[in-house]
Amino acid sequence: MKRTHHCNELRPAHIGQIVTLSGWVHSRRDLGGLIFIDVRDREGRTQTVFDPSDLPKELFDRAASLRSECVVAISGKVRPRPAGTNNPRIATGEVEVAVRALEVLNMAEVLPFPVDDPEVASKVKLRLQYRYLDLRRPEMARNLRTRSKVATAVRVFMDEQGFLEVETPTLFKSTPEGAREFLVPSRREPGKFYALPQSPQQFKQILMVGGIERYFQLARCYRDEDQRADRQLEFTQIDIEMSFIEREDIYTLIEGLLRRVWKLALGKDIVTPFNRITFEEALNRYGADKPDTRFGMELEDFTGQFRGSGFKVFSGAVAAGGVVKALNAKGLAGATQGQIETMTEYAKSFGEKGLAYIKVEGGEWKSPIVKFFTDAEKAGLTQKLGVEEGDLILFAADQWLAACEILGRIRLYCAEVLKGQGQLTIDPNRFDFLWVVDFPLLSFDKEQNRWYSSHHPFTAPVAEDIPFLTSDPKKVRGQHYDIVVNGTELGGGSIRIHQPEVQKTVFEQVLQIPPEETKLRFGYLLEAFRYGAPPHGGIALGFDRLIAILCGTPSIRDVIAFPKTAKGTDLMTDSPAPVTARQLRDLHLEVKTGKKE
Ligand code: ASP
Repeated sequence: MKRTHHCNELRPAHIGQIVTLSGWVHSRRDLGGLIFIDVRDREGRTQTVFDPSDLPKELFDRAASLRSECVVAISGKVRPRPAGTNNPRIATGEVEVAVRALEVLNMAEVLPFPVDDPEVASKVKLRLQYRYLDLRRPEMARNLRTRSKVATAVRVFMDEQGFLEVETPTLFKSTPEGAREFLVPSRREPGKFYALPQSPQQFKQILMVGGIERYFQLARCYRDEDQRADRQLEFTQIDIEMSFIEREDIYTLIEGLLRRVWKLALGKDIVTPFNRITFEEALNRYGADKPDTRFGMELEDFTGQFRGSGFKVFSGAVAAGGVVKALNAKGLAGATQGQIETMTEYAKSFGEKGLAYIKVEGGEWKSPIVKFFTDAEKAGLTQKLGVEEGDLILFAADQWLAACEILGRIRLYCAEVLKGQGQLTIDPNRFDFLWVVDFPLLSFDKEQNRWYSSHHPFTAPVAEDIPFLTSDPKKVRGQHYDIVVNGTELGGGSIRIHQPEVQKTVFEQVLQIPPEETKLRFGYLLEAFRYGAPPHGGIALGFDRLIAILCGTPSIRDVIAFPKTAKGTDLMTDSPAPVTARQLRDLHLEVKTGKKE
C-alpha cells in the first residue's frame, strides 16, 4: 500500500477518490458501532472510518486493537462528513475516508506521554528524554520546518550575493578567545589536543587571505560555558566574512538577508535600513547594549543635580567620578515588597549596598531618602521624569557603566511586571531592529588589572583612534557592530585588523600576551597577514536564536532537534558518558576520580 496523499491534503474536491494514507494513529474512538481513527503524519491529520457492515470482521477487529501511535497504512474512499460533524480546526475537517484496507506497519507501546498532551510543553525533561515523541508534536515539526526553510533561504540569498559556502574544520587548535573550549585528545600525538572551535573566526579571516573574498557557512560552534539562561554548548551561526568592504556593506547585506527571511517565514515586510544607536547612547538611555526599544521608561541622568547633595550616597558617587541615574516606572507605586526585593537583588549583584527608590502614593513621595532632598532636587526629578501620582522612581548611583546596567536590568523587570498587570502591552508582531555601533575596543578587568577585547582581539580600531591604542586604550573605539531585535542580540561582527603590525601590537602591547605565547597561539595568523591580507570584515548571526524569534518561542531548545539540558547533558542518549579503559589508554589519558581536592 503506497501513500497517495499526505494527511492534510484531502478536501471536498477529492470526494469519490480512492486514497492511501500512511502515518500514526493519532486517536481512536469507538462510537455507535463504528471505529474512527485519526491518522497523523508530518503534514496533518485525516479522519478515517471503519464500518463493520462494509469490512471483513478480521480487519475491523484489527482496527479495534490499534492504540495511539501505531504505524498504519489505510486505503479507502474519500467522502463528505455527515452533516453537522465537520471539524473546522483541521484542514481536512470537511471530509473523511471510508476504509477499505488497513495495513499495520508497526505496533506502539503505551507512550510515556500522549503526543497531544497540552501540558507536555512544560515538561522539559520528559520531552528531552523522549525527543522522538516530542518531535511528533505539530509545534516541533513546524519549528524544524521553519528552520530548514530559513536555512535554504539563507543559502540562496548568500549565493545570489556572490558568497561561497566553505566548511571549516571542527577539529581546531586551542586558542582561548574567551569562552572555555572543548578539547579532543590526539591518539597519534600523545599529550596533544585539538579543540572544537568557538567560531570559525580565524579560518574565515584566513579564507580572505586566501582570496575567497566572500565566505559564509552555517557553522556549528562550541563553547563550554556554564549555561546561563537559554544557551547551548553547541549552536549554529550564520557565519560571514567579506573582503574590500566597510561597515556599511555589512549593514546592507544583513538588512537584505533579514528582509528576505522575515518575508519568507512570517510574510512580513520589515523596514530597512535599521536604526542605529551608539553603545554609549544605548547605555545612557536603556541601560543595555542590546536595548529593547519597544517601550520607553528611559533612564535619565541626574549627576549634575546631585553633585554636592545632602544625600551622601548620591553626592559621594558623583565625587568618586560616578553618576546618578534614575528611571520612572509609571504606575508601579504599588510594587510589592517581593518585587522591590527582586530589584534590590539586581542592584546588589552589581555590588551595591541597596536600592534607592521613591513611591509616589497618596500625593506623597514615600521613601526614607526623600528627607535628604532639597526642593530644587525634587523639582528637577519631577520635571525630567514627569513624576505623577502612582509612579515608582528608581535610582542608581555608581560608576557610569554599572549605574546604567543596574537600571537597565530593573527597566526590563519593571516592564515584565507592568505587562503581567496589563499596564503595558507590546504588539507581538512588532520587531524593533537596531544596529548598536561604536563599542569601546577594550574593556578593563579590575581583578586582573588589564585590558581585554570587548568583542575579540581581531576587531579593528576606528582608524583615527589607532594612535591611542597604547597611550589611552579606553579612548579607542572598535569597528564592531551588533544587530539587536526587541532587546535580543541576534549577532555581531566587526571590520578586522588586517595589518600584521597592528594585530601584533594589540596582542602583545594592549592585551599583554607575551610574545612567545602570541607566536604559539596566533603565529600562523600573523604570518598569513604578512603575505597580502586584504582589508576584510564580517559578522555572525545566531541561527538558533533567529529561528526561535521567527517561531515565536522563548527557548532555542524548541528549534534544535536534539538539544542538551541546561547542565549540558543529553537525556536521550545519556551523554556525556564514561568510556572504556582501553579508549583512555589509546588516547594516553588517565582519569582521576574519587576524592575531591
Ligand atoms: N566570530 C564572532 C563571534 O562568534 C563573530 C564575528 O566577529 O564575525 O561572535
